[in-house]
Amino acid sequence: MDHFLYRDDILHGEDVPVPGIAASVGTPFYLYSEATFRRHFRLFDEALAGMDHLVCYAVKANSNQAILKLLGDMGAGMDVVSGGEYARVRAAGVPGERIVFSGVGKTREEMRAALAGGVRQFNVESEPELEELNGLAVSMGLRAPVAIRVNPDVDARTHAKISTGKAENKFGIPISRARGVYARAGTMAGIDITGIDVHIGSQITDLGPFRRAYLKVGDLARQLRADGHDIRRLDLGGGLGIPYARGNEAPPLPTEYGAMIRETVGDLGCEVVIEPGRLIAGNAGILVARVIRVKEGEGRKFLIVDAGMNDLVRPAMYEAHHDIVPVAQPVPGEKQEPFDVVGPVCETGDTFARERFLPPLQAGDLLAFRSAGAYGAVMASEYNARPLIPEVLVSGDQFAVIRARPSYDEMVNRDRIPEWL
Ligand SMILES: *Cc1c(COP(=O)(O)O)cnc(C)c1O
Repeated sequence: MDHFLYRDDILHGEDVPVPGIAASVGTPFYLYSEATFRRHFRLFDEALAGMDHLVCYAVKANSNQAILKLLGDMGAGMDVVSGGEYARVRAAGVPGERIVFSGVGKTREEMRAALAGGVRQFNVESEPELEELNGLAVSMGLRAPVAIRVNPDVDARTHAKISTGKAENKFGIPISRARGVYARAGTMAGIDITGIDVHIGSQITDLGPFRRAYLKVGDLARQLRADGHDIRRLDLGGGLGIPYARGNEAPPLPTEYGAMIRETVGDLGCEVVIEPGRLIAGNAGILVARVIRVKEGEGRKFLIVDAGMNDLVRPAMYEAHHDIVPVAQPVPGEKQEPFDVVGPVCETGDTFARERFLPPLQAGDLLAFRSAGAYGAVMASEYNARPLIPEVLVSGDQFAVIRARPSYDEMVNRDRIPEWL
């Protein structure tokens, strides 16, 4: 459930009509609902109630400072994958002890900054990373809290580009080699082993792959304890999918996911960390665009909109589906026709949908791309010199721009022309 609903035949973000925001900030723009973010975080928090747990929002899904502050103030932990995300989270007021640092390519500088600033744990993805972190921590007179990310070799049955838990993926240490790596880590003066980490992919729509991975993690935890390690925390990653297309079968709910966690690893008495991103942010945001014009093609009609693949890359990059709805509610029974919905960018890949059935639309009409709150604004670029589009947060009957659209001057003046030219 989200808070983007028609009221008096006009799409609203919570209590605010979308056309009013469009008139105020211009199109295209991202619009987020505070109530939806809050609701989604609570769903996960409640799904793990009764277990020692921390829900660490995966910052890469949407890293706007306002979003980080609103979740951080609710007590959320944060899962970061770069020094930049670490800096964003700290700037939003989240303390180091609520930050887990993931990622396959942490640099020395990133690890140093997190050690100095405080961190709940590093999720370490390779032996060389472990050695480097150990050396760094020793040189700083610290012990780095560490979970080893294991690769459980399960098929998450999701898009190949966002599957991370198969043996051929670049992530983690093969679970078969984990005991040896823990044994080595146990001898390191700068490493404090806290537990085990796993993350098998994103937009996973059934519990089977999670269950298989978590059972393997549970077995490993028992083995490692028998080997003498103090395994007290399990970081089970993120990845629970969301319904992108209305009417399709809905993915499992956070409550069902939580129950499965209890079943698979609940008996170990470990603190459980989860790292949901998409499910918290995805349906908490829409992308609002305006129709530039309708173009009759060869046997098809193109709806050319003012948002492009640089603003929302998911369809071009992952063949992702986004529901597209007119901001003015269609009259029931109105005849719909198939449109190819495309952006202005000079690539055929700049296509949001093919043969999408929509009511008659004309230049100037507003459209909303649903489920755009995660992996939308954060993946945007200024390709074709199209300035990054604004992000707007609505809360009840108020809204605020939480990232402004740069002017052409601001965009142009980021470049520097060397003296010799
Ligand atoms: C991307 C990622 C997540 C979040 O995945 P979602 O599908 O957005 O829930 C969590 N943990 C790690 C390590 C990730 O790379």
